[in-house]
Amino acid sequence: MERRDIKSFTLTELETAMRELGEKPFRARQLYQWMHEKLAGSFDEMTSLSKELRRKLFEQFLYVSLKPVCEKVSKFDGTRKYLFALEDGHVIESVLMRYSYGNSVCVSSQVGCRMGCTFCASTLDGLERNLRASEMLDQVYRIQAMTGERVSHVVVMGSGEPLDNYDSLLRFIRIISGEGGLRLGQRNITVSTCGVAPAIRRLAEEKLSVTLALSLHAPDDATRKTLMPIAKTYALSDVLEACRFYFEKTGRRVTFEYSLVKGVNDRLSDARALAALLKGQRGHVNLIPVNPVRERDYVQSDRRSVEAFQGCLEKSGVNATIRRELGRDIDGACGQLRRRYIDSVKTPDEGGGEGGRSE
Ligand code: SAH
Repeated sequence: MERRDIKSFTLTELETAMRELGEKPFRARQLYQWMHEKLAGSFDEMTSLSKELRRKLFEQFLYVSLKPVCEKVSKFDGTRKYLFALEDGHVIESVLMRYSYGNSVCVSSQVGCRMGCTFCASTLDGLERNLRASEMLDQVYRIQAMTGERVSHVVVMGSGEPLDNYDSLLRFIRIISGEGGLRLGQRNITVSTCGVAPAIRRLAEEKLSVTLALSLHAPDDATRKTLMPIAKTYALSDVLEACRFYFEKTGRRVTFEYSLVKGVNDRLSDARALAALLKGQRGHVNLIPVNPVRERDYVQSDRRSVEAFQGCLEKSGVNATIRRELGRDIDGACGQLRRRYIDSVKTPDEGGGEGGRSE
């Protein structure tokens, strides 16, 4: 029988499991605190639990604890990118970004991705599997434990489509923001989606106050379809309607992400079309020059076009910021470091040096 994944349990589920083991409810709270507040790396570290109980737990439950296999530190901005190994040998990546308002961790939600966005490295080999809630949580836990610095913000913007792994995402949000855990404010949690309209509507009804980010990347369906296959399933009108519903239900303004690709979506006519499209939406636009991926031939918009694009949006009354690119020198964009790592394991002669720690 597969051992149950204890770090994904809610406190209530843990209380039930401990009762089944003949333990008192306060033990469940102790154990929960060891996992989600003290960030223990194993049952062995839980010294306030008896050896006997720790042995029982070890036998009956899986204890997810990610193993760092590579850490890269940007020379420019202190951004750190981590590769973690999972129990089954897959690797995932997470990023720590330092801002004036606190430390933010970018969390992966799946191993690989099946959404197929043409500019993104995470999707090149398709989806391997969903991450468990515990595997999402432990990305934050290990980074906080290793750096000794509090993580105050989380963006679910790493590899994977979070709304394609809905149940784990919800557990992740509830545990990381709930009592007995890190108690991150839900307002400090951002979930980024390529635009799975029905799942956006479902999320809106969960009585959460997390921020929703929509990867928009184009002002019209035709262009969007060339960049994002999901656009063939859900039209912009449907997705934007879902975003309006999200705002109505949660009061949270939506962030619209827009990666600028030279000659594809970065012209002034695109900016004007985008402004028209977003009229009446409560939210703002984040502009980011596309990060060139080795396997694709997209070219980044130049600084002047990015600024002109922003100026045009602002003139039309749409709030837009140009996002700083962090970690450019450490394969900062989605899925790039994992990709390099997998390549280097496949062909050690060529890709060698990527597997180590570099500063
Ligand atoms: N699947 C989710 C979250 C993961 S991607 C989503 O689509 O939103 C996180 C963000 O990075 C998305 O906005 C995605 O479109 C963007 N992204 C991926 N690869 C990129 C690249 N090479 N350059 C710029 N942005 C990229």
